[in-house]
Amino acid sequence: MFKENSNSDSMRMSDVLCDFCHREWTEEIPMIEGHHGSCICGKCLNVGWAGVIENEMNDSIPGWKCTMCLEHRKDPCYRSPAYDEAFICRRCIRVAAQALRKENLDDWEAPKPRRRT
Ligand SMILES: [Zn+2]
Ligand SMILES: [Zn+2]
Repeated sequence: MFKENSNSDSMRMSDVLCDFCHREWTEEIPMIEGHHGSCICGKCLNVGWAGVIENEMNDSIPGWKCTMCLEHRKDPCYRSPAYDEAFICRRCIRVAAQALRKENLDDWEAPKPRRRT
């Protein structure tokens, strides 16, 4: 999401907030963009990944909508513990993790696909 009163002509990193924890975008933590300016930071993505992908948790409630793709999805989702209205579906978690892995950031470890034994 974007900070209120942010000027779209001169956006700065700090005008971009994670929808899931409302932290500002900084150099230390990557930010992945969804639709209509929705964003999830690397930390929240990691938590969502651990929950939904690794532990097969599902925070869905009737009528939930994914904040990132704005779709009513049937897949499991992660819900922000801090902001009730922020959900991310499993598909968007995967897409975001993949995008992060591609960026190959030196100082950030993107979630890794689960190894099947
Ligand atoms: Zn966050
Ligand atoms: Zn989604």
